[in-house]
Amino acid sequence: MSKIKIAELFYSIQGEGRYMGVPSVFLRTFGCNFTCDGFGMPKGEKSNERNVIAIKADDYKGYNDLPLVSTGCDSYASWDPRFKHLSPVLSTDSIADAIVDTLPYKEWKNEHLVITGGEPLLGWQRAYPDLLNHPKMAGLKEITFETNGTQELTPEFTEYLNNWKLRGNKSWCESITFSVSAKLPCSGEKWEDAICPEVVRAYEDVGYTYLKFVVATEQDVADAECAIGAFRSAGFEGPIYLMPVGGVESVYTLNNRRVAELAMAKGLRYSDRLQVPLFKNEWGT
Ligand code: SF4
Repeated sequence: MSKIKIAELFYSIQGEGRYMGVPSVFLRTFGCNFTCDGFGMPKGEKSNERNVIAIKADDYKGYNDLPLVSTGCDSYASWDPRFKHLSPVLSTDSIADAIVDTLPYKEWKNEHLVITGGEPLLGWQRAYPDLLNHPKMAGLKEITFETNGTQELTPEFTEYLNNWKLRGNKSWCESITFSVSAKLPCSGEKWEDAICPEVVRAYEDVGYTYLKFVVATEQDVADAECAIGAFRSAGFEGPIYLMPVGGVESVYTLNNRRVAELAMAKGLRYSDRLQVPLFKNEWGT
């Protein structure tokens, strides 16, 4: 039986992208290949320095007690090794039990599963078939992988997903979604590491795939347009969203209308972050 290191597992409403408003179970895996910082921060400032480094990880016994950060990676504890003691390694059997236990009827109705991170398409790809084959997951019909778009699907997992999406009554594009939040230079990650058009284009062979760029400034939007050109040149055909930066309401409300207007002006889609106004983006929401 496989095991996965789980940062969070909770039931909420999807706040972003295609499934905005849909009741969803969120499975947040531990680990990321990036250490993004600096979303929307003035040049040279890092959210790590201002926010996360000041947090004494040992003082916290659970995710729900952790402070929120206003900018930067709002799931920092799902990859920062200082917080790894908060994320247990669980068997796929116990994860399936825990997932179904979060559902209001203790069985799947119309809820969807979001596998997020961290970066959920790291080595955990090997473990997902065991999880999804568990009898308690039989009623699940729709999955979204929330990824940074840098990790290729393994041939084995590609084959597994291609078979999985045939089992339900949904059309293939309703079964599996890749929500790709490609990281722009404001994240602090290098362009050549973060913008991987061929990887994302290949997701389209397996599921419905869209791109989501978190933006705050005109420069971010210019960078997003440059990235969009690269993705389109590689043959990516899916929809593209702009989404406002802002892990807390005070920052989010400064940005959301302006980003919506920018999306309209550029002919792109706008994605809200409903978890901010609804739930203050607290851990576990
Ligand atoms: S890719 Fe996502 S989870 Fe990883 S550090 Fe960046 S924002 Fe955080």
